[in-house]
Amino acid sequence: MPVPPKAKFRPQPMKGSKCAIKLMEKNGKSLTADASNVLELGASHDVLIVGAGLIGSAIAWLLSKSGCSVVLMDAGTFGGEASSSGAGMLAPGGEYREPSPAAQFAIESLAMYPAFVRQLEKESGVSIDYRNCGAIELAYDSEHWHALQARGVVQRNFGIPVHSLCPSSLNAVAPGLNSEGLFGALYYAKDACVAPADLLRSLRSLCDRGGVKILENSPVESIDAEHDRVTVRIAKQQITGRNLVLSAGSWSSLIPLSRSGAPTSIPTSVPVKGHLVGYQLPPGSLRPILRHGHHYVVQRRNGFTVAGSSEETCGFNRSVNLERIHEIRAEVSSFYTPLSTKEPTREWVGFRPGIEHQGPVISRVPGTKVWLAYGHYRNGILLTPATAHLVSDEILGYPKQIAGDWLRPDGYGRSREQRVGMS
Ligand SMILES: Cc1cc2nc3c(=O)[nH]c(=O)nc-3n(C[C@H](O)[C@H](O)[C@H](O)COP(=O)(O)OP(=O)(O)OC[C@H]3O[C@@H](n4cnc5c(N)ncnc54)[C@H](O)[C@@H]3O)c2cc1C
Repeated sequence: MPVPPKAKFRPQPMKGSKCAIKLMEKNGKSLTADASNVLELGASHDVLIVGAGLIGSAIAWLLSKSGCSVVLMDAGTFGGEASSSGAGMLAPGGEYREPSPAAQFAIESLAMYPAFVRQLEKESGVSIDYRNCGAIELAYDSEHWHALQARGVVQRNFGIPVHSLCPSSLNAVAPGLNSEGLFGALYYAKDACVAPADLLRSLRSLCDRGGVKILENSPVESIDAEHDRVTVRIAKQQITGRNLVLSAGSWSSLIPLSRSGAPTSIPTSVPVKGHLVGYQLPPGSLRPILRHGHHYVVQRRNGFTVAGSSEETCGFNRSVNLERIHEIRAEVSSFYTPLSTKEPTREWVGFRPGIEHQGPVISRVPGTKVWLAYGHYRNGILLTPATAHLVSDEILGYPKQIAGDWLRPDGYGRSREQRVGMS
């Protein structure tokens, strides 16, 4: 990370912030806060962060590195929702079909990944399964192939490197790929993959070491912003901070937000459920990501192979639907034959944080020190480095390291017409 220039806002360590004072309710009962991460009752903190997924925890890490006192709150466990469910593709090539600010933001975030991972590994000592594996997009009929080629031309022009691969060369690149009837394929050389669980382990360790107070099983019930402070309510307890980041993924807009007591609306977050299927294959048996239509296969370094996915708007229904699993298995087996004879070792669901229009929302609530960082939908893992740097730099008053004016301090991001590309 470049050395930050002189900050406009130099956070002062809070008095008592190193103390372990038990967080108590008024009647004396302790809250659900982790005993090693307790808060000083009534103290004000530099930044409160609501939601400890990849987005919230990466912001917490960067802010704590700059000396801020940070409280990171989660309704469940650290990284326990979308962030630990995701497939881990870092693949603008499969997502952005038109030039747009969102596409540029994703391309920039992908470019930040190698340094982001290096820094996390170096500082935490946690090894992260991150690989510049490339991705192959397959077409089994001429219509699809023509559409893919046209898409490739557009993508090359706005900065996504892609070229055509001859079907006969594919078996050497991806043994096991079904080449029968294959019409053509695009190769996205810069697409990469990461194991989200490794990122979360590393961030957890760095947040702990950086003195971030992590409150798990602590659902924030409401947020009230005044001009110079923000107060959250958790189980009859109030915690006050100078700034707040709302990064509660699919749940973000469900948390009542007010400005000096007056209810304030923010873009509606929408859970988009996805099913995933995991298989254990020999390590190294599949290098690139394989994609065909809405289905994909991506392998971790240890051979664990993730196949996805479905997109369902059905609220927060956590049940695994065997019909969806069956569909995914049939689809991925049709283009990656090793899966046709394998039984899955794991099936799971997660909630992509969608919003009512295309996202993400990375913005400041006007007239407050509340920052919104949610709605990353299918690309939150990819967009973590860029989002974390953008939001933390903005809070600290550092100049932006991200090109373009993605974060607008006076509104909720871009209009629908400006947000294009995410399929
Ligand atoms: C099936 C599937 C596949 C995916 N594949 C990819 C992929 O290949 N590549 C990619 O880039 N992205 C992928 N994603 C998307 C990615 O996982 C998400 O965009 C990203 O994890 C969002 O991170 P987040 O921190 O915003 O949200 P989350 O990880 O959902 O974190 C939000 C946190 O807020 C907490 N919270 C909720 N309510 C409250 C409250 N009231 N108080 C306090 N805390 C609260 C939750 O408990 C949760 O831990 C996938 C997602 C799914 C579901």
